[in-house]
Amino acid sequence: KLSQRLQTVATFVPTGAIVADIGSDHAYLPCYLVQADIATAAIAGEVVKGPFESAVRQVQKEGLSEKITVRLADGLAAIKLEDHVDTITIAGMGGPLIASILEKHPEKLQTVTRLILQPNIHAKAIREWALSHQWAILDEEIIEEDDKIYEILVLQKGTMQLDEIELLCGPKLIQRKAPAFVKKWQREQENWQRILQSIEGAEQTTDIETKRQELARQLHLVEGV
Ligand code: SAM
Repeated sequence: KLSQRLQTVATFVPTGAIVADIGSDHAYLPCYLVQADIATAAIAGEVVKGPFESAVRQVQKEGLSEKITVRLADGLAAIKLEDHVDTITIAGMGGPLIASILEKHPEKLQTVTRLILQPNIHAKAIREWALSHQWAILDEEIIEEDDKIYEILVLQKGTMQLDEIELLCGPKLIQRKAPAFVKKWQREQENWQRILQSIEGAEQTTDIETKRQELARQLHLVEGV
């Protein structure tokens, strides 16, 4: 059974989509999307040999080799023009890694109309990438599973404006303030407060003072939400 995290990613895949799942590991997500008749075809991309082989095995085991192509490649290099991919999913990595994957092969995004991204941490890096590459937030979701909190960002081409707090916490998520959202930022605040306290006892350097000011500022911003 697919995790709630990946199921939530799947709910944002349009019916009839041709999907590339980058960093697919066991290819659970593309297998699910094709079996549920959501995606008509999919690419599963993996850069590491072990997970790539797991993906190949899983696709064969499910009898989906006609509809899912598994490729060993770095990031978006797994996508070919003739695949006509219109939707990309990237899940289970840090936000900065996801942003760097999107940054590396911009030409692969030409046919793509939707990005569904699930960063484990630092979703802010993805919102920053979107702002500077003319992608706009269509929707966002936040869920809790096994005591971990996950954010899912859905992007489409377009422009948007985000202020500092929206960049950090997500414009749609701020509006909705779901229980998982409140819990996440309470946890973060507690972390920051702990760090601030430990800084107080430390030797004062300009680096530490910069860090302290940054944390105090974030705390202030998040308190406002
Ligand atoms: N997407 C699956 C999920 O959400 O359950 C697997 C997540 S797993 C933690 C991250 C996977 O991304 C690993 O299998 C790793 O090898 C792969 N990966 C990391 N960097 C990558 C890159 N540049 N290109 C393709 N795959 C990558």
